[in-house]
Amino acid sequence: MSGRVLGIDLGTVNSCVAIVEDGKAVVLGEGQDRTIPSCLAIKDGKELVGQAARRQLVTDPRNTVTAVKRLIGHSFDSQEVQSALARSPYPIVPSPLGTVMLEVGGRELTPVQVSARVLQEILDRATELIGEPVTTAVISVPAHFTDVQRKATKLAAEYAGIEVLRLINEPTAAAFAYGYRKAENFTLAVYDLGGGTFDVTVMRAIGDSFEVIGTDGDSFLGGEDFDHAVAEWLLAEFETEFGAPLEDEAGKLRIREAAEKAKIELSAVEETSIDLPYLATLGGGENAQLTRTVTREKLTELTRGLMQKTLDLCTRCLADASLDKDDIDEVLLVGGQSRMPVVRYAVRDFFGKEPRRDINPDEVVAMGAALYGYSLCADQFAETAMDQAEDAYEVALKDAEIARKLLDEIKLRKEDNTDRAELKSRLNSLLEQTEDEVGPPTLREPRPEQSLVEDVRQSTERLQAEISPMDSLEDLPAAPVLERQVGEQDLGSAVKDVQAQVQGLQSEAREVLEALADELAAEEDESTQDTASTDSDSEGQAIGAAAERLSALIGNAAEASSEAVGNMREAGEHAQARKVTLADVTSHALGIAAAEDLFMSLIAQNTKIPAESRRVFTTNQDGQSEVNIRIFQGRESKATENQLLGDFVLEGIATAARMEPKIEVAFAIDENGILSVKARDKRSGIAQQIRIEDPLGLQANDAGVTGPESMIEEEDDGDFEAVDGV
Ligand code: AMP
Repeated sequence: MSGRVLGIDLGTVNSCVAIVEDGKAVVLGEGQDRTIPSCLAIKDGKELVGQAARRQLVTDPRNTVTAVKRLIGHSFDSQEVQSALARSPYPIVPSPLGTVMLEVGGRELTPVQVSARVLQEILDRATELIGEPVTTAVISVPAHFTDVQRKATKLAAEYAGIEVLRLINEPTAAAFAYGYRKAENFTLAVYDLGGGTFDVTVMRAIGDSFEVIGTDGDSFLGGEDFDHAVAEWLLAEFETEFGAPLEDEAGKLRIREAAEKAKIELSAVEETSIDLPYLATLGGGENAQLTRTVTREKLTELTRGLMQKTLDLCTRCLADASLDKDDIDEVLLVGGQSRMPVVRYAVRDFFGKEPRRDINPDEVVAMGAALYGYSLCADQFAETAMDQAEDAYEVALKDAEIARKLLDEIKLRKEDNTDRAELKSRLNSLLEQTEDEVGPPTLREPRPEQSLVEDVRQSTERLQAEISPMDSLEDLPAAPVLERQVGEQDLGSAVKDVQAQVQGLQSEAREVLEALADELAAEEDESTQDTASTDSDSEGQAIGAAAERLSALIGNAAEASSEAVGNMREAGEHAQARKVTLADVTSHALGIAAAEDLFMSLIAQNTKIPAESRRVFTTNQDGQSEVNIRIFQGRESKATENQLLGDFVLEGIATAARMEPKIEVAFAIDENGILSVKARDKRSGIAQQIRIEDPLGLQANDAGVTGPESMIEEEDDGDFEAVDGV
């Protein structure tokens, strides 16, 4: 493979990584290792990541970070972080910037840093399994992830040394994986219920064009909430049975784990039991043991509200996309929590059709991300493979040329009138030349203990035995990327020519070397006494070395030409890969706060991305020289009831009466769903400065801790550019 791109599903609980091999998405790893716990732990001052960290969760939850995806890109005061506080076994504290810090193992880590470490583990694992370094990836994020959460995820990936080709919405990736395989026209709904988040997405596939037509979700609704519902019930049962609430943290954690275990078991059986001895020590020194039977029915009852919330979001998503349930041809279930039978039945009843069960919900997102990455890169991979083919061809050509010269010199040996000293020096100089050009690694020097005849015979044998039959080039598909000229010829016919040359050389060299060996043997027989002079010994050495080098060069040329063929064939496969277009949409309305807290939307929810929008605003006070532009996302008409994404101040507005200045605000959202906002005073004509404030201090918080500083500068420059006045 001359190029790889990873598809990474960075999950709340587990992550998964896939690549494309022979046009198909393949999840990396075997068995349990196909997923990597999104977990980081500190043990004895050392970091553990993935499976090793997950193992520590039971013994030392205080120093083990999980579900960091729920915290990334949120401020400490956000509702999401506040509700995570109560459940988190590790301390979550505010940073001086109002962002989130995690205190583990005596260290303070940001969610971005933890994600970066998990991503680094994924990258290392992928590199190990693939056997070559790979750094480019498409990373999936929940569809409803805000701009800040996307930026934070991208930043984490960059810290991990990953070049993020694209961020893709998780349900879009799942739909894409399914549609890519199916290659038909259809409308698909993806119901994605993971460990921490819920998304629903509707996508239409027409040939190679994939278009998301609607998306909705809740960033705080997932499997953990189902666990929480069961755990809350168990805690209430404890209080009823023992007359006091369970206070012990370790006990509470055991209850949470038992709740998840029971929930998962109930996906396979109708009834399961929970038995938790030694949960707490009671007043009289007695140990509190909680034993309960849980049925599927009980689980359904406990989680009905959560389930209904997901269905309400499906209703809203369809309504926003002006679709009816009947318009949906297929329903895809994604995310570990969708394995729960009740979820499956509820989704089936809602859409009136059986959801697809032929795709692994834990792996489909990573597969879709890998397929999309491959589709974006296939032409580039074909180009790289053609470059490699050209390089291999050049090697084959050069080796064949030197082999030809050596063979011609060896042939002179037979001519009686050849000056032996001259021949020796010419052979030696050719050998020196090949030493420089080909290098010694595959070549053997003649061994002194071996006779010259043996050396030459061995070289002949190598010519016969070791030179593998050359791979021949079949017809390549017609694709512009495969049209490569070398000199006057196209690469394909040039490679065929060099192969013909190598074949000619091989049979001619065999003949010449066999004859030479016979001749040398006859000479040896003639000299009954050992009277060989130093001169003829060294001539013999030159001949022996030349014979060895000749067979090695022909072997190298044959191998290189086969490699060129392999590279060209691979380029042909890349060129034939399905190239798709994928149009995603914004998952929220985006806009700014105007007077009286009015939310003025610039980009509506479900707008196809990339997108741009401009709107002109004005001032509401005489002589106002600056305005504060506050960016929000959400559905509420009051700006502050939506989620604040960022704000900045536009300074230097030309002095004017209220309502006179014209301030143009421009929103641009790129293919990753990342927003940039510009503002300019249309009347001033002077260059305007925009002061950017990063509400979550993402970069400030992480600066210099794990990532190279240049990246932080790039982020500063790239995301919000200063606007020149007109
Ligand atoms: P994900 O984020 O997609 O890896 O989903 C993880 C969530 O799926 C966790 O809350 C798990 O408890 C839940 N989960 C995994 N397997 C099952 C199962 N067989 N039945 C119910 N929930 C499951």
